Amino acid sequence: MTEQIRMPRVTVFSLGGTIASTSDAGAEDGGVAPRLGAAELVQAVPRLRETAELESVAFRQAPSPDLTVADISELAAEIDERFADGVDGVVITQGTDTIEETSFALDLLVRGPQPVVVTGAMRNPTLAGPDGSANLLAAVQVAVTPEAAGLGALVVLNDEIHAARFVRKTHTTNPATFRSVTAGPIGWVTEGRPRIGLRPAPPRRDDLPRSGTGSFPAVALLTCALGDDLRLVGELDRLGYAGLVIEAFGGGHVPGHAVPMLAEVAARMPVVLASRTGGGELLRETYGFPGSERDLLSRGLIPAGFLDGPKARILLSLLLAGPADPVADLAAVRIAFQRFLGSTFSFGQHSRSR
Ligand code: ASP
Repeated sequence: MTEQIRMPRVTVFSLGGTIASTSDAGAEDGGVAPRLGAAELVQAVPRLRETAELESVAFRQAPSPDLTVADISELAAEIDERFADGVDGVVITQGTDTIEETSFALDLLVRGPQPVVVTGAMRNPTLAGPDGSANLLAAVQVAVTPEAAGLGALVVLNDEIHAARFVRKTHTTNPATFRSVTAGPIGWVTEGRPRIGLRPAPPRRDDLPRSGTGSFPAVALLTCALGDDLRLVGELDRLGYAGLVIEAFGGGHVPGHAVPMLAEVAARMPVVLASRTGGGELLRETYGFPGSERDLLSRGLIPAGFLDGPKARILLSLLLAGPADPVADLAAVRIAFQRFLGSTFSFGQHSRSR
């Protein structure tokens, strides 16, 4: 008796970006903008039909800087619905400018273990050597791979597989722009075969809201720069911000004179301390000068661990969604950051809670 082999089912959600950008045939030299939807992107890559049974959903049509956390929360809810309906994996095509944030939000929000793969393109379809079709094909190949399940959201471009929580865009134009500076890529795709070399622990999601529509309070992200006195920090309440991520110098340092102001704000709203370097983990116990990581953490700032500023801001935004209770929020955010960071590493249970 011959058994019918079922093709894996994959839903492709398009959100816009360079991968979907073409020029307006009527306009002269107006630059490219997102115009293609998921169905057109899928149709342009015939080999996809040999890989999966595909459903195409044009979810948004935007340059990725226009996307919001609320958009991604809504997308996460749609993804979980598809998984409940038997879809084996999903691929999201979007602009590369914000993939490091949207993929991390999906990492935190999507409940199903099935593969969630985000991709895009650095060269739009009007240029020589556009990379969109190759990236889309590789992304679908990863999405149908059972070994890609249970890893959290993944980012696939340039034949590399990255965990959403580690990856960053590092170059304005190079197709090899996506890099996981601290941890390295977790796998690759060769001749259409995805290889998962490393398996990060699934992210801990129990402190986070369910996906769907919701309100996400404003969270500021400020980067330290030489000679800046950080006076913007004093304006956050007036501007209606509910939290702050500060991207500090090096291992977690700010000018000494900014410490009292940061400590005062940290008593009222969550202030997360990240590094502006883009690689490595925040220090916790090395430097003892005013404005050092030890000083700031002893005054109530919350360590971002290995998360860079934009990713720490995504985690904080999701933690602050829902009814506001400033006092409970402060304690809950601190614990949730600790739990998230601890759950990412197998040595999270170390006796000294490192
Ligand atoms: N340059 C961007 C891209 O790669 C534009 C965007 O993020 O929408 O798609």
